[in-house]
Amino acid sequence: MTRSANLGFPRIGLHRELKKSLEAYWKGAIDAAALDASGKALRVRHWQLQRDAGIEVIPSNDFSFYDHVLDMTATLGAIPPRFESLADPTERYFAMARGTAAAPAMEMTKWFDTNYHYIVPELHSGQQFRLASSKAVDEVLEARALGIETRPVLVGPVTWLSLAKAKDEVDPLTLLDAVLPVYAELVGTLKAIGADWVQIDEPILALDLNAAQRAALRHAYDVLQPVAPRIMLTSYFGALGDNTELAAGLHVAGLHIDLVRAPEQLPAVLKSLPADRVLSVGVIDGRNIWRADLDRQLALVNKAWDSVGPDRLEVAPSCSLLHSPVDLEAETELDPELRSWLAFATQKLGEVAALTLAMQKGRPAVKAAFEASAAATLSHRQSPRIHRAEVKGRAAASLPLNRASPFAIRRAAQRRRFGLPAFPTTTIGSFPQTQQVREQRAAFKHGQIDALAYEQFLEAETERAVRIQERLGLDVLVHGEFERNDMVEYFGEQLDGFAFTRNGWVQSYGSRCVKPPVIYGDVSRPAPMTVRWSAYAASLTDKPMKGMLTGPVTILQWSFVRVDQPRAETCRQIALAIRDEVLDLETAGIGIIQIDEPALREGLPLRHADWDAYLRWAVDCFRITASGVADDTQVHTHMCYAEFNDIMEAIAEMDADVISIETSRSAMELLEAFRDFRYPNEIGPGVWDIHAPRVPSQPEMLALLRKAAAGIPAEQLWVNPDCGLKTRGWPEVEASLGHLVATARELRG
Ligand code: GLN
Ligand code: ZN
Repeated sequence: MTRSANLGFPRIGLHRELKKSLEAYWKGAIDAAALDASGKALRVRHWQLQRDAGIEVIPSNDFSFYDHVLDMTATLGAIPPRFESLADPTERYFAMARGTAAAPAMEMTKWFDTNYHYIVPELHSGQQFRLASSKAVDEVLEARALGIETRPVLVGPVTWLSLAKAKDEVDPLTLLDAVLPVYAELVGTLKAIGADWVQIDEPILALDLNAAQRAALRHAYDVLQPVAPRIMLTSYFGALGDNTELAAGLHVAGLHIDLVRAPEQLPAVLKSLPADRVLSVGVIDGRNIWRADLDRQLALVNKAWDSVGPDRLEVAPSCSLLHSPVDLEAETELDPELRSWLAFATQKLGEVAALTLAMQKGRPAVKAAFEASAAATLSHRQSPRIHRAEVKGRAAASLPLNRASPFAIRRAAQRRRFGLPAFPTTTIGSFPQTQQVREQRAAFKHGQIDALAYEQFLEAETERAVRIQERLGLDVLVHGEFERNDMVEYFGEQLDGFAFTRNGWVQSYGSRCVKPPVIYGDVSRPAPMTVRWSAYAASLTDKPMKGMLTGPVTILQWSFVRVDQPRAETCRQIALAIRDEVLDLETAGIGIIQIDEPALREGLPLRHADWDAYLRWAVDCFRITASGVADDTQVHTHMCYAEFNDIMEAIAEMDADVISIETSRSAMELLEAFRDFRYPNEIGPGVWDIHAPRVPSQPEMLALLRKAAAGIPAEQLWVNPDCGLKTRGWPEVEASLGHLVATARELRG
């Protein structure tokens, strides 16, 4: 019989209970036992919820107190030496994630193309492994005590090694034979306690793999299969593509494929899959919040059924539901029509169950669910709130991509207009969002102060920031972004086509969650969004005031995006709205405008073959925003946390007059890409790591800039921090910016 399955449930809790317990524990407000109890309560609740939703294959070990990759690392005993002295496993686990005074945290990075961050395994040659945790086994037993049989989830060995970094340049994959015995012991134990199945995640199957990775996959499952329970090997986030035969041929009992991101891969997989394998079809989107069109997805499941039959089929979400908010029921304030188009993790389980029941008993058995889905699909497709002819028409017209003149001419015009000194100094936009700023915003939101009082407060903060920048002697000032809660939300709230949830939290890392805006309809800008603040700030000073905008790719990347049209199309609509804002700023006399694109690089597709197409539209969208201004208006952009080597051409094509980047932590290494490319426009390499409260000294900044000037002609260089200063305090900001201005002056002399 076809079964309903889930690959993972969000751990954070409907009311972010896990966040609250973790932060209380870290502060010392609760003890380890209380933290454990809160974790257990969440696991129990989520298992029961999945069972009650009609899910037959329920995961365990998908829960984590911080990160499932870190759990695997701890389970394999791969503790970096600097944490070995910590004897208490809980203390050590959090130390690895968050660092201690003595030992810096392990590195953290994004999980494939999601906004979830995992802790990067840190290995060295000759690394020893041992089974150091019984978490996976304990959770199976814990669920069993409730009468719920589960399928434990493990990060697969080849994915785990592929994500690892070795301190001494050894290829982590060469450690496969050292790590496999521990995996074998673990899956052997799971089998011994009676687990029927184990889910092993190998999402690297959706990437371009090298020969070593392919060989490692074959070898790993040859070793594990004989000792393990039946293995459900999962791939997700994309098509298996050229890895289809490899994946289908691995010695496992079942294969999960993502048919939301890559529905077109089904025939190829069916063709390659040996006759004894179970196929798990991921037909409900684990990455987005839209309700499924059940009839369309049922057709897909039926296609699989035709080929594998009822007994070798599982229906599942495309990937773990970790990337979805928990429950739409909590969205009591959302517009009912919009709400009827959405499904969060809990609703997605219902969709999986309905599709499975339709397979088991026929569609009439779940008539109501299918009818509700069809009604929502129809209203979603036709709603006038989504489709706006004038917006679509404008985005479909030929788009203005080029500035009036090439950079050399613009640069001369800008030099005449602004007369900036060599090594001009500026900041990236935000100034400290102090407790007071956040309190005033909350008070305004809750109606405790009126709009006038709030605006007066923001004006006073802005003026204070302007005076401080003048006193410090910065060359290009900013208004400070005090009016903004978040660099995407602020714009989304003022654009048509965006909606906001109250409780749509998704884990970003550890206890940190984000609540992405929902882009549901055609995007347009009913009124100027930032002109009031930039113009006010500019009126206070004779120095140039830089206008500050978030770019279209970043707005897209950090939102839940509609799926009824290509992302490129939605991005073009946002770009046109930002373009209008740029032109309004220019009209208001703002001569320098920064359009931030920190998320441009993270939007790169998982497969290299798809990079060019993405970069084409992403760069074009940036150019749409910037191309309308006069030669003597200076366009800046900003990017942080990025490697630039492989996207230099795209960055050059963006053709911003100035780009500021985060370089201080890499000691200007990231600048090498610009040097080697002979990047023609101006660059501000960050000289102050703003992620820590530390105040960098003048000699440090000078050394960094000298290094920068060794590779980049001095007349191209700006002097600025790595990123915005919203998380910093004023004393550090004043001290560090003081050093920064003094350093620029020293260089000029
Ligand atoms: N202008 C934004 C700020 O200063 C940029 C933030 C970012 O790049 N992440 O806060
Ligand atoms: Zn930044």
